[in-house]
Amino acid sequence: MDYKIIGHDHRVAAVDMIQVFFPGEKYKALEEGEYSSRFIESRFESGLINARFFVDSLLVAEARLQCVCIDIGLGVKESIYELFKGKYHPPWGLLTGIRPAKIVSKMIDSGLSETDIIRSMQEKYLASPAKAALCLEVAKAERDILEATNTKSYALYIGVPFCPSRCLYCSFTAYPVAKYTHLTKQYIAAVKKELDYAARLYKEKELESVYVGGGTPTSLDDESFSQLLEYTAKTFDMANLKEYTIEAGRADTISESKLDIMRHFGVSRISINPQSMKDETLVKIGRKHSAAEFVKAYNLARKKGFSHINVDIILGLPDENEADVSNTLKEITALLPEEITVHTLALKRASKLKEEISSATIAEAAQMEKFLGLSKYYMDNFSYKPYYMYRQKNSPGNFENAGYRKDGYGCLYNVQIMHERQSIIAAGAGAVSKFVNADHDRIERAFNVKNVDEYIERTAEMIRRKTAAYNKAAKGVLNNADH
Ligand code: SF4
Repeated sequence: MDYKIIGHDHRVAAVDMIQVFFPGEKYKALEEGEYSSRFIESRFESGLINARFFVDSLLVAEARLQCVCIDIGLGVKESIYELFKGKYHPPWGLLTGIRPAKIVSKMIDSGLSETDIIRSMQEKYLASPAKAALCLEVAKAERDILEATNTKSYALYIGVPFCPSRCLYCSFTAYPVAKYTHLTKQYIAAVKKELDYAARLYKEKELESVYVGGGTPTSLDDESFSQLLEYTAKTFDMANLKEYTIEAGRADTISESKLDIMRHFGVSRISINPQSMKDETLVKIGRKHSAAEFVKAYNLARKKGFSHINVDIILGLPDENEADVSNTLKEITALLPEEITVHTLALKRASKLKEEISSATIAEAAQMEKFLGLSKYYMDNFSYKPYYMYRQKNSPGNFENAGYRKDGYGCLYNVQIMHERQSIIAAGAGAVSKFVNADHDRIERAFNVKNVDEYIERTAEMIRRKTAAYNKAAKGVLNNADH
């Protein structure tokens, strides 16, 4: 879908809204006076915001808004929304950001009542009543979880980018562990250098949480896995640690010995993720374990004393229908994990040329709404409450991924990520450190290279990148990426 912006500089707002109706396409900017076979024009002129949709030089739809507010970006979004709302009402309305609960949290800070917040979410942002209520519930839970935290603390992330096999939908840095055994030792040695640096940099700060993710850290052999955890324990002061999570994601990597090692080093929270309880689906998405093997691994973790387990599932996996999703939810809730994280997987398909909004987009969004309805039913009935959430961008419906918890649980690390008020220092290939200067409202990120060989060779450079980002954040230097 091409687009043309005239008279304002809210390009991101316009493209974000176009993506809601035309997900998965390429979005090309046209100059004023330039035309293409299919484009949306967004214009601001004399206090009017105007959106027009052209196909083959013909004006197909038009929406005009009198701009009475100062938020022109929101007006730009609304005018585009008006063009297509007859075909499809996106449940999140004009909310296109990844963290909608942050908006609600700011409303709470400003003293708005819950009724006014719900009204504002529906009237100003055109969110559905269900999404407005979800946002409020998540914002309240996040605030509740963060209330007891030390604002000067930091989090440590350790990335282990190996997995037994690659899942169909994987968007992470993940290498097949069997092909990389020759590099594991060097990889751990490189991570240790970064851990040394992190401990030195933050020696005056309190370490609040550790998150070992990837990849699947438990796909390492016992010796390497144990070494990594042992080194972490001796390098950092873990006395005030509130949470220690390891993504034990794949059931095929969980053994008695791995669980013993984790218990020995004080791991308090683990994730074991079946994604679906349908064996045919697990084969289709490239998992090397069955639903029964997941249950066995889960029960073994319980037997070993793990009392805080998260289970991830995915809605929208290939060829799954409502009965499949319902069965997965039924079997998972029967196990009573402390947390269930519900992801939505939307396959990105471009609409056919000249079609206003792809019928596939509308059908996929409608189906996902049904799956989410089922998930809500099970979460409500088994007393799970939403506590953290982020949204998919550029996918049909732009739905949310949400973490649900039993009372008293929840992942502090995840909530801190959403809140963006805590620095995270990250080690490992593909890991991203985030340095937060809350006083100046600045965030600087340092990105590690994703390739494992390069990471091992360039570890010193990764450390230099962190130093540069840390210094920039500390000085409150403007981050160009923010503007
Ligand atoms: S387990 Fe996770 S990180 Fe590993 S391949 Fe699957 S989706 Fe990717």
